[in-house]
Amino acid sequence: RDPLTELPNRQIFEGMLAQAFQRADATQAKLGLLLINLDGFKGINETLGHRIGDRLLREVAARLRSLAQPHMVARQGADEFLMLIPNDASPQVAAELASSVLVSLGKPCLLDGREASVTCSIGIALYPDDGGASALIAHADAAMRFAKSSGGAAYCFFESRMVDGFRDQAEVLRDLRRALALGELELFYQPKIHAPTGEITGAEALMRWQHPRRGMISPVEFIPLAERFGLICQLGNWLIDEVCRQIHAWRDTGLRMRVAINLSVHQLRQPDLVERIAKALHANEINPSLLTCEITETVAMEDTETTIRVFHQLAKLGVSISIDDFGTGHSSLSYLRKLPASELKIDRSFVLDLETSEDARKVASAVINLAKSLDLKVVAEGVETEGQNRILREFGCDQLQGYLFAKPMSARALALWAMDDVGPRTMNFRDSLFKATQPAEL
Ligand code: C2E
Ligand code: CA
Ligand code: CA
Repeated sequence: RDPLTELPNRQIFEGMLAQAFQRADATQAKLGLLLINLDGFKGINETLGHRIGDRLLREVAARLRSLAQPHMVARQGADEFLMLIPNDASPQVAAELASSVLVSLGKPCLLDGREASVTCSIGIALYPDDGGASALIAHADAAMRFAKSSGGAAYCFFESRMVDGFRDQAEVLRDLRRALALGELELFYQPKIHAPTGEITGAEALMRWQHPRRGMISPVEFIPLAERFGLICQLGNWLIDEVCRQIHAWRDTGLRMRVAINLSVHQLRQPDLVERIAKALHANEINPSLLTCEITETVAMEDTETTIRVFHQLAKLGVSISIDDFGTGHSSLSYLRKLPASELKIDRSFVLDLETSEDARKVASAVINLAKSLDLKVVAEGVETEGQNRILREFGCDQLQGYLFAKPMSARALALWAMDDVGPRTMNFRDSLFKATQPAEL
């Protein structure tokens, strides 16, 4: 048994499952398997401490046990539980059980005088419809990941496409390793515009992958994959070196570009991240103030201890910090004030709806005011229309970024544009981006 929760452990559960499969085969009954994974448990452990984390797990176990009869429940690992419906499982029965798990775990519990509540993601697989004995747990796991990736606090039934994708993913992942080794990855740069003057003040580096057979693969696809399979730090290290190399190369041509990079949560946990950045800056003789690190709000709020530590180290180095996709996560304002960030980026989803939704306007305007009162700069991303542009300027947004001004482009295209002023749209680069003397050629 699992000593912490006193639930059966995975081994015992697998034994019970094997018997259940035999019985089901003999009687042609159906089984249902729920795989329950807590959302954001790591954050709870880190902010409230492991003792409280353990207590929460015991409380979750007790609640699951009380729901489980006559079903069976086990602890599969850290914050993951399994529940078996041993007979007459139908999609309805499984969905009802999953709903009651969500409701039950969602009720607040008192831990050390504090109220905490958790949500969870649940994957459901039915036997025999969703696979044989050997695959049922894996399929419930795939369904759980699906629920998790759609935002959590939900249940999801297994569908075969969830694992079709997996074979594909394994292939993509193998290719990504190779791409990294062969230098098939490239950075594109998207300008940031100073709203009052319309001048370009810097650019955000965005990864691009030209796959030899599949064509351009979006970072929306390969970054999460790299994160899930432990390749993101290698990608991130490459990014840091490449950006610094590029800033240096631009400077040789007379362009003093400020660049923002996106950092993933795994990079923040990398013990030598700050040292790496410092080294790359130093090796390329770059003033740290030319570099900004963008970190999404969700990440910044998830693992607060690590985040605060790394943010302070970065700030000490002289690198700026920007909170990306702002408005989509759950920021604590007191926590936000403690972070040495200098910029908020309003998430694209609010910009997208500015012209049609009063709510989006309210959020955008509130974020702009919040940023101003916290003395932070504010950037709106994904500006595509003149209407959005006008509204954001009226609200007093400092900087704008989006297809309306410029799409992400190659480093060379950006340099040509800066030097010759031939671009998608006439726009000036801020004077401070240039050295006193301009070079003769690129
Ligand atoms: P993000 O950091 O929010 O980047 C903005 C994304 O919005 C970029 O997509 C950009 O091309 C796109 N975009 C910019 N303006 C517009 C617009 O006007 N309309 C629309 N529809 N889209 C616009 P991209 O390059 O596909 O990157 C997507 C996400 O992938 C990024 O979101 C970021 O989270 C991640 N990513 C990209 N490069 C890196 C990287 O080097 N490291 C890490 N960790 N993540 C990266
Ligand atoms: Ca970004
Ligand atoms: Ca963003």
